[in-house]
Amino acid sequence: MKVSIIGSGYVGSVSAACFAELGHEVICIDIDEEKVKQINAGVAPIWEEGLDELLARHTQKTLIATSDYDYAVANSDASFICVGTPSGEDGGIDLSIVKAASASLGRAIAKKEHYHVVVVKSTVVPETTEKVVLPILEEYSGKKAGRDFGVVMNPEFLREGKAVYDFMHPDKIVVGAIDQRSFFVVSELYRKLDRPVTHTNPRTAEMIKYVNNSFLATKISFANEVGNICKQLGIDTYEVMDAVGTDFRIERQFLNCGAGFGGSCFPKDVKALIGKARDMGYAPQLLQSVVDINNRQPLKMVELLREKISDMKGDMKGKRIAVLGLAFKNDTDDIRESRSIPVIEELLRLGADIAAYDPMAEESMKKLFKDVTYCKSASDALTEAHGCLIMTEWNEFRNLDKEFGLMASRVVIDGRHLINPEKLSTQIDYQGICW
Ligand code: NAD
Repeated sequence: MKVSIIGSGYVGSVSAACFAELGHEVICIDIDEEKVKQINAGVAPIWEEGLDELLARHTQKTLIATSDYDYAVANSDASFICVGTPSGEDGGIDLSIVKAASASLGRAIAKKEHYHVVVVKSTVVPETTEKVVLPILEEYSGKKAGRDFGVVMNPEFLREGKAVYDFMHPDKIVVGAIDQRSFFVVSELYRKLDRPVTHTNPRTAEMIKYVNNSFLATKISFANEVGNICKQLGIDTYEVMDAVGTDFRIERQFLNCGAGFGGSCFPKDVKALIGKARDMGYAPQLLQSVVDINNRQPLKMVELLREKISDMKGDMKGKRIAVLGLAFKNDTDDIRESRSIPVIEELLRLGADIAAYDPMAEESMKKLFKDVTYCKSASDALTEAHGCLIMTEWNEFRNLDKEFGLMASRVVIDGRHLINPEKLSTQIDYQGICW
């Protein structure tokens, strides 16, 4: 089949490359000409394991990129909207990009003779597909949904860093369609994956995505709440969770306490669901606590550091602090809502001199913080540092040992449970955030 993918970010570029791998002809559309050029040159616009290989295999054969909506719609059976849905100023969802993409699609559909299916893959709050996207498409195309074009909501569950693998091995495929015809077109696209398809309506599909992410975020904030209590009691919270997680009703994953969750999805999706609930007059207390705990957690790292640097009376002015890890998690260059951001802000506010290192995310963080020294290795960052905060679970940090010996004072605050001080040959003054 022929598909066009609107937006070539994490979800769009991975979906495009994977649909090509599944044997479909793919046209990527992006308003960012640089991304269009990169894809046409076979270069991935973002880092994802396996993405470069897929693009190299399919670009200029069954995959091309353009910024021309008319061309892409005329030459495809379905268009997937994969543009961003950031948080608005009030924390609720900002649908302006989805609306702009829908209007462009509507104009292109107006010029097309044949039936076309529009698929919303961006994460949008319940009712958006039917009450926002569909009316815009009808307005700009002058055509009727369900008769001239189909509308589907098909949420994406991939994890950054493992996005290609997740797309090709989904645990669920959810297709929320306004009718049978558009459901059939979208399910056909996934046929080769040989997974059961949940056939539902658009608003249920939208809710499935939010519940999925909100539940995982809730597990993390729950683990952090428990971890904070365990630390006060001198109990190893990881030992607690290892035992609790053996209960098949609970499951061990996402019970690791630490500096909190970040990324482009969990924080904004929980806030968007809170915003939607509030719009309807419901105050979601549990979800609000999930966000509050997550906001508090990274600042605990700085509090612990200040307590440890007690001989300096917690004074951070001019103290060199190594921040290890800038990406919101390992194996990605994405810094969106990274827990390092509030930590760096707080350290800068306190007058610290920050030496940061991340194997992938340095360039992205440079755009946010200019007054930080970006180092080429963990050793560089640790050299002469008065303290170290471990913010991201990069594998290479697990092997740090003699590098701590380069520090001016060996205070190490671990936000990701990576270091076991008893196994090190170098003596350090270690604190885990919740252990
Ligand atoms: P992104 O910001 O990385 O990419 C969005 C792309 O859309 C950019 O390349 C941008 O240039 C392009 N764009 C903006 N306006 C456009 C327009 N009018 N026409 C064409 N292109 C346009 O976003 P992302 O991380 O890929 O997320 C996209 C959506 O998928 C969001 O709703 C997100 O919540 C959801 N999602 C993301 C992930 C993830 O891990 N990143 C996982 C599941 C779902």
